[in-house]
Amino acid sequence: MHDQLREAERIENRIIELRRAIHQKPELAYHETATARLIAKELRSLGVEVRTKVGGTGVVGLIRTGKPGKVVALRADMDALPVQEEADVEFRSRKKGVMHACGHDAHVAMLLGAAALLSRRRKELGGDVKLLFQPAEENGGKGGAKPMIDAGAMDDPKVDYVFGLHISTDFVSGTFGIREGPFMAKPDAFDIRVKGRGGHGAAPHRTVDPVYIAAHVIIALQGVSGRLVNPMSPFVISVCSVKGGTKHNIIPDEVLLQGTIRSFDRKIRSKAVEHIKRAVSSTCQAYGGSCTIEFQKETYPVVYNEPRVTARVASVLRRIPKTRTVEAGMRLGGEDFSRFQQKAPGTFYYLGCNNPSKGCIEPNHSSRFKVDEAVLKYGALSLAEVALEFAR
Ligand SMILES: [Zn+2]
Ligand SMILES: [Zn+2]
Repeated sequence: MHDQLREAERIENRIIELRRAIHQKPELAYHETATARLIAKELRSLGVEVRTKVGGTGVVGLIRTGKPGKVVALRADMDALPVQEEADVEFRSRKKGVMHACGHDAHVAMLLGAAALLSRRRKELGGDVKLLFQPAEENGGKGGAKPMIDAGAMDDPKVDYVFGLHISTDFVSGTFGIREGPFMAKPDAFDIRVKGRGGHGAAPHRTVDPVYIAAHVIIALQGVSGRLVNPMSPFVISVCSVKGGTKHNIIPDEVLLQGTIRSFDRKIRSKAVEHIKRAVSSTCQAYGGSCTIEFQKETYPVVYNEPRVTARVASVLRRIPKTRTVEAGMRLGGEDFSRFQQKAPGTFYYLGCNNPSKGCIEPNHSSRFKVDEAVLKYGALSLAEVALEFAR
């Protein structure tokens, strides 16, 4: 596959240029209009059919072959995060408080790179290839995959296989991480309102102190994951936001706790939700308070990599020169790529961009997150090769 890598190397500068252009102008969920324009323009210049405003700001490219083989979809997400960039790069975000801290700029650039490679090798394809540029992956349960699917992104021509990749400093630069079966967790979000009766900080006995009760609730929640869920099953509860009170000496009426559960197993999840409801409400009652517990209704499903398809993807990745392919562990992060997988079997995999010599070591979502751009050509090539493997 050395010739194919040389092709990818020839367009490497363009991929990096596109990535930096997007990086400088990051856009938050469902506001990716300039990014979508850039994508549409680039695709048209490659002779790819383009549909815009799919499910909001989404873009669908179609590389038509006129052949009857399988239809393959490749997906990239486009949204940035509400983070103030602190990375020491010359193409820093020009938007205050917004940054491509999860590397979705790199995903877009790699998929555009794959589009360039595939449009040149159109003759080798046995079926059509769809390019899905998705808005709002980082949007809790209301991610951009579902509106794109609802707008017909997976139909006409109907998609047979779907693939996507994520860049991450969890893996060494040039390493592909892939796993068959359940790969990424179902992310649930909850709001717990601990209700008491406020008053003076000097006279707690005349109040029902929701701050004190909330502290016990947080401990009780750890008991659910630590004592009530089978330790052999990946599961976590994190309380990530505590809001309540206004001043040093006022006990408030209410405290709001917000957090997330990550799980893989449907039964374990529903049991855990019952445990949480019981543990939280009885803890609140024990101290004379009360509570409401709400779980977000729409959440992403588990990312499930169909084993036979994924084994084929892994064998394609292993052929890419100068890279390494490893079996990744299960991950408790969520991804709405899973919504596409509910429409067609497919695989989500990782591409490492951790390179200490270039200072690319901070985790995704960090304000100092940096991508080792030398890996982008491998990502673009991998997507193109996976499409060539399955579109036949
Ligand atoms: Zn992210
Ligand atoms: Zn991401």
